[in-house]
Amino acid sequence: AALLAGAPAPPPTRHLFSDPAEIEALRGHLLTWYDRCKRDLPWRTLAATEPDADRRAYAVWVSEIMLQQTQVATVIDYYNRWMQKWPTLQALAQASLEVSIAGTGCCPCPRDSSSNTAPCLLEQEVNELWAGLGYYSRGKRLQEAARKVVSELAGQMPRTAEDLQKLLPGVGRYTAGAIASISYGQATGVVDGNVIRVLCRLRCIGADSSSPAIIDWLWDMANALVDRSRPGDFNQALMELGATVCVPKAPLCGECPVKQHCRARRRKLFGKPTPVPDVEDCGVGGCPLCPPAAEPWDSSLGVTNFPRKAAKKQPRVMRTATCVLERRGCHGAPEYLIVQRPSSGLLAGLWEFPSLPLAQGLQEEKQREVLADHLQAWMGRPVVARGLRYIGEVVHIFSHIHQTYVVYSLPLDGDVTLDPASSPSRWVTEEEFHASAVSTAMKKVLGATWT
Ligand code: SF4
Repeated sequence: AALLAGAPAPPPTRHLFSDPAEIEALRGHLLTWYDRCKRDLPWRTLAATEPDADRRAYAVWVSEIMLQQTQVATVIDYYNRWMQKWPTLQALAQASLEVSIAGTGCCPCPRDSSSNTAPCLLEQEVNELWAGLGYYSRGKRLQEAARKVVSELAGQMPRTAEDLQKLLPGVGRYTAGAIASISYGQATGVVDGNVIRVLCRLRCIGADSSSPAIIDWLWDMANALVDRSRPGDFNQALMELGATVCVPKAPLCGECPVKQHCRARRRKLFGKPTPVPDVEDCGVGGCPLCPPAAEPWDSSLGVTNFPRKAAKKQPRVMRTATCVLERRGCHGAPEYLIVQRPSSGLLAGLWEFPSLPLAQGLQEEKQREVLADHLQAWMGRPVVARGLRYIGEVVHIFSHIHQTYVVYSLPLDGDVTLDPASSPSRWVTEEEFHASAVSTAMKKVLGATWT
């Protein structure tokens, strides 16, 4: 209704599922296909066989948090390792609480009181397990939420989508809907990227699918469609359809279990005019769900006319100077200095070579000077800018940042006393470096010093 407030006529009734018989048929077709074709995934197996609803919820929760922005094939191994280490919410919360009790009281991530350079052990474990998945704060929030369930909610998981979203840090509308429907059987829909694509195609929704009004519209549709007796399976089926059949570039419409309900396909097959009045007629009247008049149906794209997104913002361009400080360890093997990033923001809590964001347009000579000053703060002694060896540039693309690392190295003679007033830092061998919670970008940086 909010979408329609003030919107010009005609109302977009043709973008809806308004026939109960059609909804029933679509549910049946989708669930039959899902029962036959679904992929075997470890969290699905657990959710289908585990009698305890809270244990199911934990497994779904871990998998859904990992799947945000990450492909299924990548997640499986991380999920299995996580569940092996912390098989239940209680195990994760317990580990977290033990660290709190043993620590110095600077919760939630207390450090070993004997040395201010030691990282919080649990945080380090979480980061190490998460390293490579990206969006590292997700692991930390999962850990915080587990602790909250045990210490503030008497160990009881919230059981509705509304409560899950309200009470658990890091659980948004989608994750709450997934946990509530799959684990607790609540008849509530979910909307993720796959569902957006499927629904937009089923009902020829060509308005900007990233706009809040259209997302709200799709949530209403998902809630209306979800099967009342098998909500979890229905939601997974809709997402599975988007992941395996109704894929972004070359959807397999011929094999699609809901093709008879798909208006984008009908539009593609029959072109214009259609045998019955159809959604393309809406556009003429300024329908808020049709593609904008400036971007009409393109017959060469077929069903991939939908969904449509407004042009993406350009990623932010950043340059960062970084230095691989190297010393000889006690057995003559090289050791490298790594320092910990702040606990919030990009790559929160991960370890990196000492690095410094560079102002735009800084000359090479000036870059060296600011980096030398920065290193001096870590090492507690002067660093000569000329001594820094320029290695080259390493480019790494984060989802919203185009990052260039300007890489230097500096071999050191003798021992270096790290400034205890600085943030956590440590010397690591190559092996320890790779086992630490370091980002993929830093692995590239180390690789660049060897070429
Ligand atoms: Fe997607 Fe094609 Fe199925 Fe329509 S028919 S839902 S476009 S795969």
